[in-house]
Amino acid sequence: MKVYKVASIPGDGIGPEVVSEGLRVLEAVARRDGGFRLEVTGFDWGSDRYGREGSLMPEDGLDRLKSFDAILFGSVGSPAVPDHVTLWGLRLKICQGLDQYANVRPTRILPGIKSPLEGVGQGDLDWVIVRENSEGEYSGHGGRSHRGMPGEVGTEVSIFTRMGVERIMRFAFALARSRPRRRLTVVTKSNAQRFGMVMWDGIADEVAREFPDVEWDRTLVDAMTVRMVRDPRALDTIVATNLHADILSDLAGALAGSLGVAPTANVDPERRNPSMFEPIHGSAFDIVGTGTANPVATFWCAAQMLEHLGEAGAAARLMEAVEGVCAAGIATPDVGGGSSTREVTEAVLDWIGGSNILPTAVGGVGR
Ligand code: NAD
Ligand code: MN
Repeated sequence: MKVYKVASIPGDGIGPEVVSEGLRVLEAVARRDGGFRLEVTGFDWGSDRYGREGSLMPEDGLDRLKSFDAILFGSVGSPAVPDHVTLWGLRLKICQGLDQYANVRPTRILPGIKSPLEGVGQGDLDWVIVRENSEGEYSGHGGRSHRGMPGEVGTEVSIFTRMGVERIMRFAFALARSRPRRRLTVVTKSNAQRFGMVMWDGIADEVAREFPDVEWDRTLVDAMTVRMVRDPRALDTIVATNLHADILSDLAGALAGSLGVAPTANVDPERRNPSMFEPIHGSAFDIVGTGTANPVATFWCAAQMLEHLGEAGAAARLMEAVEGVCAAGIATPDVGGGSSTREVTEAVLDWIGGSNILPTAVGGVGR
């Protein structure tokens, strides 16, 4: 039997609430499949550790992660610690340290979930946003001097390298080609930003020649927000910089119904290091401890993780269960339901276990 080593980093806020449910669901899928097993190791890295020990993760944290096949991450962020400290101290440290340069964010309207866009239903919005995850605006290059003085300066330098842009572009074109519509939209801001963004456009042209079977176009990021809202059906695969895609994917999550259902994968396409799977949402302080955190984003991440590990069958079964439960109206309040985190999880577990008669079903259930 195949054994995959999974590192679990639940983190802060609702992170632990959704990751624990994600692990239960993964275990059930593995049991049902019979062909593989997951060996999970938990790490208590996050803001509490920062409070106790002065750092979010230990010195040798990255080295320890390298021996795993995949990482399941919850969220990091706490009212007690500034956000730039938590983000750079854990999540970005892992993504950049393990060179997980492709951030892949699928967005679809799941059955039973309503988009805030009128007349846009299931099948009308099916995107994958590819976010450059290693450089750009989040390179960490910059500084601050003359603090507190009238002449105080803060710089935040965006860094775009040929290597970085080429590899993400090639990844995006290849992903677009693997999807039925073979369509890619390259997002930049090359009218106002004349150097890095114009280079980005030029490299898109070059890489496109390697993919003559992919239909592609270019859009400025501001115009892209309009296209996403006005004409969601026209988009398919999207590639953008670290900052632009960060923003666009929150919009995508909202247009698909809720941040609570949106997953993301931080992938090292060359598989030198483990990839990391995490819901897009944050710690959601406003609902911590209420038992209403939507676990669907984490379940979808778990499916992405199984696919990445080569267990496509198990991944598909997990998504089928999640979609079945959503279709049955068993959902948390953020997507208009009345169920708890636990109830949604139990319903998914029941489905995986084979009893597709769901106890608290509202709509019609069954296959
Ligand atoms: P957030 O995603 O935590 O919450 C935004 C809103 O969406 C809140 O109203 C919240 O209740 C709701 N929401 C989010 N996830 C949900 C879920 N699973 N189910 C139901 N509702 C959900 O974003 P925020 O409030 O801007 O940030 C809170 C903290 O999280 C901050 O410290 C921030 O830095 C951090 N954060 C971390 C990550 C990450 O670790 N990747 C991402 C975003 C924000
Ligand atoms: Mn974000």
